[in-house]
Amino acid sequence: MVYQAEYMWIDGTEPVSLLRSKTKILPDGADLPIWGFDGSSTNQAPGDNSDCVLKPVFDCPDPLRGPNDRLVMCEVLIPEDMSPHPTNTRSSCVEVYEKYQDQEPIFGIEQEYTLFKNGRPLGWPANGFPAPQGPYYCGIGADEVAGREIVEAHTKACIDAGLAISGTNAEVMLGQWEFQIGPLDTVSVADQVWIARYLLYRISEDFGVNASVTAKPILGDWNGAGAHTNFSTRAMRESYDAIIKACEALGQPGKPEEHIANYGTGYEERLTGLHETAHWSEFRYGVSDRGASVRIPWQVAKEGKGYIEDRRPSANMDPYTVTRMITETCCEYLAEN
Ligand code: ADP
Ligand code: MN
Ligand code: MN
Ligand code: MN
Repeated sequence: MVYQAEYMWIDGTEPVSLLRSKTKILPDGADLPIWGFDGSSTNQAPGDNSDCVLKPVFDCPDPLRGPNDRLVMCEVLIPEDMSPHPTNTRSSCVEVYEKYQDQEPIFGIEQEYTLFKNGRPLGWPANGFPAPQGPYYCGIGADEVAGREIVEAHTKACIDAGLAISGTNAEVMLGQWEFQIGPLDTVSVADQVWIARYLLYRISEDFGVNASVTAKPILGDWNGAGAHTNFSTRAMRESYDAIIKACEALGQPGKPEEHIANYGTGYEERLTGLHETAHWSEFRYGVSDRGASVRIPWQVAKEGKGYIEDRRPSANMDPYTVTRMITETCCEYLAEN
């Protein structure tokens, strides 16, 4: 007998890479082999030298197929010397994690997304706008949310896949939702966010719906979609001093610009200073402040330890890049100060 392995990887599309996947049928019990694909169709190689290598790096049960089927996250390598392809953001994430592993960095990522049908957010009228924002966040009832059947199926699939999904909620804009993955280490949280995105796209397909991680789906008085990134090290989980140092690390000269530039696209439209954001050009941290770049949750201020929330990443960010940068910036500073 055989099983199905869904190999997935991040492509080379600019400015936001796409997740790609294809199916390999393997004999029962067989290990996941190295595989390959046509990089000329994914913006990863020229047509006359098109082969790219897929190296399995994380796998879990595939809840949409059978009990023996697998979902497989891969790194993309260059065949000549099996080195990381320039689009392989995971390999440098692993390097940084290994360098600072002794500080025990962990992350929880809040992935917001918008469901679209026929080019409109789910639940929106074909023309014009729904009633203004207000009742939709954590709403209940057919007049206040749209797409719950997709959210329920996705949550169940994440649980069955063994992912560390820690919650879901309806968001401020009608048709917009969130799930959270974590807390997990720098690399694992990013592996799992990508697999959870795969499940979301794949399940939405069956409903004729497109799940989108675009940062500002509708201009105007409608919330954008972010990927708040919650972070702590062992020291931060033990002392408030380390919490403040982590915030200051992120505010060091040059760091806000460097981070924002790598936090996904559409930040100019989303980080306007309105709709629970800080303006993209300023850096500010604060307790309970949802208008800050980095928020210290009130329980953390009260207990004098815990974690911080970087509110800047766009929904379309690459989690390998975001967790690598936060780990590097904060752990380097915490080691030196
Ligand atoms: P919000 O109030 O911003 O909507 P959520 O409940 O959606 O917050 O998300 C909080 C996230 O923070 C969860 O994914 C959770 O796993 C994560 N988290 C909790 N404690 C820690 C910690 N010590 N370090 C890192 N992440 C954490
Ligand atoms: Mn949240
Ligand atoms: Mn949210
Ligand atoms: Mn949040």
